[in-house]
Amino acid sequence: MGQVGEKEGMTAGSYWEATAGAIKEDRQLVGDARFDVAIIGAGYTGLSAALKLAACGVSVCVLDARRVGWGASGRNGGFCCFGGTKRNYPDLVRQYGLDETRRFVAYQCEAMDLVGERLASWDVDAARHSRGEVYLAHRPKDFEGFAPEAEYLNSNFGLGARVLSREEAARRGLSGPEFHGAMHVPQGFALHPLRYVLALAGKVRNLGARIFAHSEVTSMKREGSDWRLVTRLGSVRAPRVLLAGNAYSREGAPAWLSGRLLPVMSSILVTRPLSDDELSEQGWTSGLMAADTRTLLHYFRLMPDRRFLFGTRGGIFETPEALKRMQMRGRADFERMFPAWANVETEYAWHGHVALNRNRTAFTGPVPGMDGVFASLAYHGSGVAMASLCGEKVGGMILGQVKPQDLPLVLGSAPRKFPLPALRQLYLLGAYGWYGIRDR
Ligand SMILES: Cc1cc2nc3c(=O)[nH]c(=O)nc-3n(C[C@H](O)[C@H](O)[C@H](O)COP(=O)(O)OP(=O)(O)OC[C@H]3O[C@@H](n4cnc5c(N)ncnc54)[C@H](O)[C@@H]3O)c2cc1C
Repeated sequence: MGQVGEKEGMTAGSYWEATAGAIKEDRQLVGDARFDVAIIGAGYTGLSAALKLAACGVSVCVLDARRVGWGASGRNGGFCCFGGTKRNYPDLVRQYGLDETRRFVAYQCEAMDLVGERLASWDVDAARHSRGEVYLAHRPKDFEGFAPEAEYLNSNFGLGARVLSREEAARRGLSGPEFHGAMHVPQGFALHPLRYVLALAGKVRNLGARIFAHSEVTSMKREGSDWRLVTRLGSVRAPRVLLAGNAYSREGAPAWLSGRLLPVMSSILVTRPLSDDELSEQGWTSGLMAADTRTLLHYFRLMPDRRFLFGTRGGIFETPEALKRMQMRGRADFERMFPAWANVETEYAWHGHVALNRNRTAFTGPVPGMDGVFASLAYHGSGVAMASLCGEKVGGMILGQVKPQDLPLVLGSAPRKFPLPALRQLYLLGAYGWYGIRDR
């Protein structure tokens, strides 16, 4: 972590920016102001909280170092899907019990429904598609694991997961040399992530909340019963504060954040539109959103305009050379997995950060030892749905309408500091090496 966006420009270079339409520029904070609640971060989390608060008549401002949706919310893969943890369900059941894990699964479904309802009731042109998500086994042994996994998901959580043999998957237009069969879960859908966050910001503004762009909070200190949040040209005082900077949070603002998050890169490429012939040559004609079974997973989907979106995890350093290498690795994986498209041009390529923590689950709640300060972060790479609902719930907590225990316990553990936080990137290097071996 470091200065927000210090190495990145105002644009991500994404396909979403190219197709979102005009992006409204909010004013920079200049001078001093006071609000009931100050929110750091104008992504799904911060804006969902602001929406809840402003709808209840609370005076609220959202401060962003860049602009609405500049972080992960405006540059993700657009999979509105299960998320918020890197832990599997049996592991969560061991720690929290079956009932609590069921509550967590139901919460994730509620989160996807919330996004769907917002898009429908606000009439957002979000290029929605895909009924659920499909997981593709990248090795025969992963396919063998699908039947017991589907049985586990269905009997414990009633998800309606279905296993598709390699042939059945191919008949449904899900074919590739590395795919040994599939498991489909009917929950979730795909969307245009930037249009969604811009619509959310529009609703927030309409309710009278203030959004300040180019207003990075560089420090935070207590002043009587208020917190003072300092930006380059001004400051905000507020008795209650929400930390919603997620992977783009500035280390040390406030000090509690230091060493607790591990930002990890993810990169995406989008091809030119594919013709009917190209789609059938590859055997991929499905509009389902998909991911493979690797730990360092690939996520991909054929979009309604027939461009193919392909995302990869990995990459540590953000120098231009390292970013170039990461993109080339992503492109090589794409060509290996979809060989018929080896000559199809990439028209957009960009990257962003997702946040992990030591607990390997998201956290939403009051920050220990900081009176009036709340946080919601670390969605572990799947926050389109979860950040939306967690943001709304933490807004409810700030209002006193929602208690931390009203949320699944899985989300209730404040992230612990990493031991020797300065070495976080090295841990990552080791983890990537190990995952690469495990994924073979
Ligand atoms: C490449 C990529 C692909 C992804 N794909 C998916 C996907 O397909 N499905 C899915 O569910 N999730 C996906 N994610 C994750 C998902 O996008 C995030 O979990 C989610 O957007 C987090 O929202 P947020 O509001 O918490 O944070 P962000 O959207 O990251 O917003 C944080 C904001 O805080 C601001 N900020 C931080 N610190 C400060 C400060 N000190 N002062 C002022 N402003 C500050 C930043 O400028 C930023 O705009 C992906 C992420 C990436 C990067």
